[in-house]
Amino acid sequence: MAFASSISPSYSLPNISSKPNKILTTPNKIQSFNLIQRPPIISVGCGSKLQGRNSLNSNLFASAASADTLLNDAVGKVQLPDGDTWSVHKFGGTCVGTSERIQNVANIIVHDDSERKLVVVSAMSKVTDMMYDLIYKAHSRDDSYVVALDAVFEKHKTTAVDLLDGDDLANFLAKLHQDISNLKAMLRAIYIAGHATESFSDFVVGHGELWSAELLSAVVRKSGIECKCMDTREVLVVNPTSSNLVDPDYLESSLRLEKWYSKNSSDTIVATGFIATTPQNVPTTLKRDGSDFSAAILSALLRARQVTIWTDVDGVYSADPRKVSEAVILKKLSYQEAWEMSYFGANVLHPRTIIPVMKYDIPIVIRNIFNLSAPGTMICRFPDFGNEDGQRVESPVKGFATIDNLALINVEGTGMAGVPGTASAIFGAVKDVGANVIMISQASSEHSVCFAVPEKEVKAVAAALESRFRQALDAGRLSQIAVIPNCSILAAVGQKMASTPGVSATLFNALAKANINVRAIAQGCSEFNITVVIKREDCIRALRAVHSRFYLSKTTIAIGIVGPGLIGGTLLDQLRDQAAILKEKSNIDLRVMGITGSGTMLLSDTGVDLSIWRDLRKEKGEKADMQKFVHHVHGNHFIPNTVIVDCTADSYVASHYLDWLRRGIHVITPNKKANSGPLEQYLKLRTLQRQSYTHYFYEATVGAGLPIISTLQGLLETGDKILRIEGIFSGTLSYIFNNFAGERAFSEVVKEAKEAGYTEPDPRDDLSGTDVARKVIILARESGLKLELTDIPIESLVPEPLKGIASPEEFMQQLPQYDQDLAKRRREAEATGEVLRYVGVVDVVNQKGTVELRRYKKEHPFAQLAGSDNIIAFSTQRYEKQPLIIRGPGAGAEVTAGGVFSDILRLASYLGAPS
Ligand code: ADP
Ligand code: ASP
Ligand code: MG
Repeated sequence: MAFASSISPSYSLPNISSKPNKILTTPNKIQSFNLIQRPPIISVGCGSKLQGRNSLNSNLFASAASADTLLNDAVGKVQLPDGDTWSVHKFGGTCVGTSERIQNVANIIVHDDSERKLVVVSAMSKVTDMMYDLIYKAHSRDDSYVVALDAVFEKHKTTAVDLLDGDDLANFLAKLHQDISNLKAMLRAIYIAGHATESFSDFVVGHGELWSAELLSAVVRKSGIECKCMDTREVLVVNPTSSNLVDPDYLESSLRLEKWYSKNSSDTIVATGFIATTPQNVPTTLKRDGSDFSAAILSALLRARQVTIWTDVDGVYSADPRKVSEAVILKKLSYQEAWEMSYFGANVLHPRTIIPVMKYDIPIVIRNIFNLSAPGTMICRFPDFGNEDGQRVESPVKGFATIDNLALINVEGTGMAGVPGTASAIFGAVKDVGANVIMISQASSEHSVCFAVPEKEVKAVAAALESRFRQALDAGRLSQIAVIPNCSILAAVGQKMASTPGVSATLFNALAKANINVRAIAQGCSEFNITVVIKREDCIRALRAVHSRFYLSKTTIAIGIVGPGLIGGTLLDQLRDQAAILKEKSNIDLRVMGITGSGTMLLSDTGVDLSIWRDLRKEKGEKADMQKFVHHVHGNHFIPNTVIVDCTADSYVASHYLDWLRRGIHVITPNKKANSGPLEQYLKLRTLQRQSYTHYFYEATVGAGLPIISTLQGLLETGDKILRIEGIFSGTLSYIFNNFAGERAFSEVVKEAKEAGYTEPDPRDDLSGTDVARKVIILARESGLKLELTDIPIESLVPEPLKGIASPEEFMQQLPQYDQDLAKRRREAEATGEVLRYVGVVDVVNQKGTVELRRYKKEHPFAQLAGSDNIIAFSTQRYEKQPLIIRGPGAGAEVTAGGVFSDILRLASYLGAPS
């Protein structure tokens, strides 16, 4: 055999073990050795002692020994010991990424007290990428491959110098030099040809594993343990398949393993991952990330007791930990679950790892080399389902995984129904272009078949389908072959899904609540998996939304606060005081991801520390930019839900709501501008809100924290008919008229209210009645009336001549001149046992609204009011004789912020928080 580069002159011929060996007796293990004898051509160590090792051209892809030769040669030699005595380890690239790490791996091997160990090792991290890059550069005729190859050389040389000395080092470096110079020659050939065949590439890229295996075995030997290095191209025989994968030839591999062992018997073997040979003895690979597969095949060939896959995470998580920070470690998984997880993108395990070990019930344990105290994940046939996984006992879903860069192809047409062979024709065309179909979904009407393929293959697939179905398209039997690009697949995996109704309902509910549109669905008959196709940009958000739905029970909401003034600031303080309790008691996780005023904004990736939000704003505030703010708050994929809380009184901010809701951002506000602005705008907002799962709450626009809007909505939703809503909606005017009694002058009471801070800085803003009119219009529209603000007649309490005065101070000075007018109206009212109250009225029956000063009998509830309270009376079909009355403080930062806060909690409960 002529793996010219893999000769390891340092390795001596194997010692024949003196231990009694048991012969494997499993059925497909060949034990007859009476095959034709040929001269052996395989040697030892990671390398092989090959004829003409320096003659690259003639020997490069020459044959590895054939099984029969090997077996015959094995007669009378050491046979493979009993399978159960073997334990297999696989160390991923990061585990052997540096010299310290290789040393660490060697220590783990040395301290593993299994009777026999076979250790499969990947290339040092990044090396395989570097090797692929060499090929890419060379065949693109980019001569920087020379420098890149030097970097590969340097990396291994430095590592070897760190780890080895004496002969070991000299031998390794000699081999490395030899390999590098051979590679240089090969790359030069590729450079000149401008082309690299797959065999060339496979040969080149496999060197990473050869070097790491040699390094590791030398280090293990250095610690006094006898250890052999296996170049798996001498043992693992695989056949290429049409879909760029390889299928192991177990029989042939088994024979070669026997043979190899007979010459290299050892209780500790370090084997190369990733690389193998074809039956024609051409070096090949098990394709990217294939070392897991190598370990699984070798475990199956050995019938090992267990295979431990060492990597850089604590085990298999319920979702990719890089995407879902709350993902939890799964202690146990069934083979099927692990397969589905890995097939759908959990790259902690190569999907093909499962099949070989499953056949012999060999458990796989995934462990973290950087955290030896973590027990890892056990993958076996019957993991007992329980709550020990850290997930809730009832959660039937074990994990979630995603695949990006897919496109969906939809073949649609009425002519497909009932026509046998359509699906076969479709997938035949797909097969012809060698594309990999990741999922298929067909509606039962047979009207359309849709399937997902990798984005890079979609063009070819679409072209193949169009040509295959040209006639059907022309004849109208097929209406279209549509390509939907930029898709991702999200898969939910769990063996218990099969026996649990409602799993898909919960899944789709979580997606709907996160405002994620599902484009296609597939559920296999095994019910181990539900797969949905979504837009790529929604993928991480979807993953987090469903993960938190099944795993966290925690409703996590990203909050953006616009306007940290009096109300916004108070809200932030209330959130500060309550957030921890909510998290603890109700599993509601509220995170303020951004605070913006008109000048500066503060953004945070994980949530603003609310105990110091004011200081942070000063220290870390940046120039306010609404677009950037919204993008930041909503763009954080780790939190599935976003709400923007507008605490301003600004119409510009309100003009964004429609866009926010459309983007799936919930909106909560005490700002009256949107709901009392142009009717058309309002109707659009409400329609959008009703159509989507996006919520828009505005309880605090009327009566601050009093439950006015929610009461009205409750009445309407339960079928009551609103007849009339009448109320004192202004805290300021409530205060003024509650105190406008006896002989007191109106201007004097206004002055007192102003001094007590009950009025706006310019009291005319209260006295004009516009604010009350806005509340009236909000309630009127909520009750179904289609009114504009201009349709509401407002009785202003600002005397006409004082409307144009510039300063509030001057206004206050001149106001006493007009006291007579209101004093007269008060006298008239008192004469009939009545009081004056400034009210807003929604007359639903006559479809009108008004804002005016009215007289009420002294016994009327409106006359009983004190302080700045609001009072609202709903007359409805159910509450006709006795109106439903809500009364209480209806102004002030604390109660208004409280109203907003309770909207946030309502949102949390709509999103699934426990109530
Ligand atoms: P190795 O080089 O050791 O084979 P990989 O990079 O192939 O390591 O696989 C480990 C990585 O898989 C982890 O670092 C993690 O980021 C990723 N991963 C993706 N999904 C999962 C999951 N569900 N559980 C654990 N790890 C996952
Ligand atoms: N080194 C190979 C790769 O990076 C195989 C592996 O690490 O599993 O693809
Ligand atoms: Mg891997």
